[in-house]
Amino acid sequence: MAEPDFYLSDEQRELQRSLREFVAKEIAPIAAQCDAEERFPLALFPKLGSLGYLGLRFPEELGGAGGSNLDYAVLCEELAYGSAGIALGFYVHTALACAALEAFGSEMLQREWLAPALRGERIGAWAFAEAGAGSDAGAIATRAVADGNHYVLNGSKLFITNGPIADFLVVVASTAPEQRLKGLSLFLVERDRAGFRVAGTLSKLGVRASEMAELVFEDCRIPATHLIGRENRGFLDVLRTLTLGRIASAAFASGVARAALDATLVHARERVQFGQPIGSFQAVRFGIADMALQIEASRLLCHRAAIAADRGLPHGREASMAKLYATEACTRIVERALHYHGAAGFMAESPVQRLYRDCKVFELGEGSSELQRDMIARDLGL
Ligand SMILES: Cc1cc2nc3c(=O)[nH]c(=O)nc-3n(C[C@H](O)[C@H](O)[C@H](O)COP(=O)(O)OP(=O)(O)OC[C@H]3O[C@@H](n4cnc5c(N)ncnc54)[C@H](O)[C@@H]3O)c2cc1C
Repeated sequence: MAEPDFYLSDEQRELQRSLREFVAKEIAPIAAQCDAEERFPLALFPKLGSLGYLGLRFPEELGGAGGSNLDYAVLCEELAYGSAGIALGFYVHTALACAALEAFGSEMLQREWLAPALRGERIGAWAFAEAGAGSDAGAIATRAVADGNHYVLNGSKLFITNGPIADFLVVVASTAPEQRLKGLSLFLVERDRAGFRVAGTLSKLGVRASEMAELVFEDCRIPATHLIGRENRGFLDVLRTLTLGRIASAAFASGVARAALDATLVHARERVQFGQPIGSFQAVRFGIADMALQIEASRLLCHRAAIAADRGLPHGREASMAKLYATEACTRIVERALHYHGAAGFMAESPVQRLYRDCKVFELGEGSSELQRDMIARDLGL
């Protein structure tokens, strides 16, 4: 049989090979401990930076490696194979905080914040969600009011990945509340800015190797030069460019699902019942075949969206389909993996129980399944 992704270029296959080596050496051995301690391994960031992984798809002139969206999808799948939590911390930094600075940050912000962030010297977070605003971005209540050559921020953010460890945040705030979605702007806020504080850390069911916080802004004065993009348009502009998030989510789901499949293949060969390995029972064999099929389908949809983006073709529907299919398939696949592991999979030391806790979040973030279905239907003219 041909390799499942034989269509990758020689460079992409080499990237995949080095990533598998990196993940096996640097991530797999610490994944369970970081999960148990709810801790992001900070020492990994400079390593990811020096190997060029943080800047993989950023232009060389901004300190990146000039790679493609497909390169990034390959990277995301491999990181998530090792640890979905670590992959999430990486994702928020690269695909949200750094991507906003790349697309719309001023030269000054790019020089002072983006370049060190791509080297892994500074960690970024994306502060969008609030207690009253999740799927509905128009409900964002954090206010930014212009005051001379400053803006004054007031409000709070919830569920912010990297919040406890970030050096800078890209904050979505309202500059024109009556215009809801069309009145949102983006701001860079540094960790030590007066008026900003981490109000508390949050404990999660899964992806526990990423850290999460609630953030508060109280009369937080930031220079007007920290506005990212256009006032009242920043968030909409970013939304238009950030199909990358959906492609990355599909890649993460493929990685987590592949980890579940690999563990299940080993178990199905080793576990003997009724005098036979359980992988010889047709019910189990068929289930595992379906797992493999769904992973291939997920990866193909993900890579198709990434290639379309790289070729400058419309790819919104493709990105939504990839995200929707891969994340829902991942949840099904991981559930089957745990089922075939029996009680052993249910035990705290089993890697499969971690995958079971990790997988669900990819259906919720970056636009839940319902929002993806809605976008696909809209794209079909409904
Ligand atoms: C692990 C994790 C990490 C996160 N990290 C970040 C981060 O770094 N930064 C950040 O800003 N946010 C982060 N979030 C929050 C994330 O942005 C929100 O979870 C997401 O926007 C969805 O919002 P919500 O959870 O409030 O769900 P809600 O919007 O309240 O949705 C609840 C349910 O209602 C459904 N629903 C909502 N609207 C519709 C509709 N119009 N039609 C049909 N169904 C609908 C949804 O599909 C969902 O099933 C994170 C969340 C998690 C779980």
